[in-house]
Amino acid sequence: MSIRARKHVLIVEDEKHLAMGVKYNLEAEGYRVTWVEDGPTAVRLIEADHYAFDMMILDLMLPGMSGYAVCQTLREQGIFLPILILSARSLPEDRARGFDCGANQYLNKPFDLDELLARVKNLLKLHTQVQPAPVVAPVKINQIDFGRASINFETYEVRVDDREVKMTHKELQLLRYFVENQGRVISRQELLAEVWDMSGEMQTRSVDQFMLRLRKIFEIDPAKPKHFLTLRDAGYRFVLDTDSQASL
Ligand code: CA
Repeated sequence: MSIRARKHVLIVEDEKHLAMGVKYNLEAEGYRVTWVEDGPTAVRLIEADHYAFDMMILDLMLPGMSGYAVCQTLREQGIFLPILILSARSLPEDRARGFDCGANQYLNKPFDLDELLARVKNLLKLHTQVQPAPVVAPVKINQIDFGRASINFETYEVRVDDREVKMTHKELQLLRYFVENQGRVISRQELLAEVWDMSGEMQTRSVDQFMLRLRKIFEIDPAKPKHFLTLRDAGYRFVLDTDSQASL
């Protein structure tokens, strides 16, 4: 887990237009936002890293798995990520069911943007007070060996099968970000924000190009990666193999 200056909000919503609108406005407020379109992807992301997100905005009528089921699944696993349900279901029994499943807040569609932003802020603040995030210094890794590779981020020396490989500064920055966040699912948006210092939907393909390049360098079979894994709709995950060693 690393320190996050910006709170990270997960939006689970199958109406693209609505999701993009909420995302845009949350980003304008300084939050980092990840959007997924269905329940199973949301659960998979959170299970992969409980600490990746600070809260979730959850629709109820979703493909694959209802919002109720998403909420319940997480709570049953002892994951208490704050959840705000955002739904067109406005009957008292719907709201009650949402709270029974473990949601923290419930807002009906159509909603007032200022109210949504206020509720998000409120929920994040409350959660921070209840569970102060432990202060953990970001892991800084200068040298790592994995698979057939040996990398020194300080001297830019990269060797694969004991052969020297030339990598660009940006490729090494990307590699280092993966290494320092090993095991965690990282979205393309996060990579753009953290490695490229950009945000936006358009450039995510360039991230994929860099990933192809990393796989070509480090994977025995780039089509069947063992280290740089793709999680459909979610992003990438870097995993070391069991005999890898990192030195801090
Ligand atoms: Ca829906």
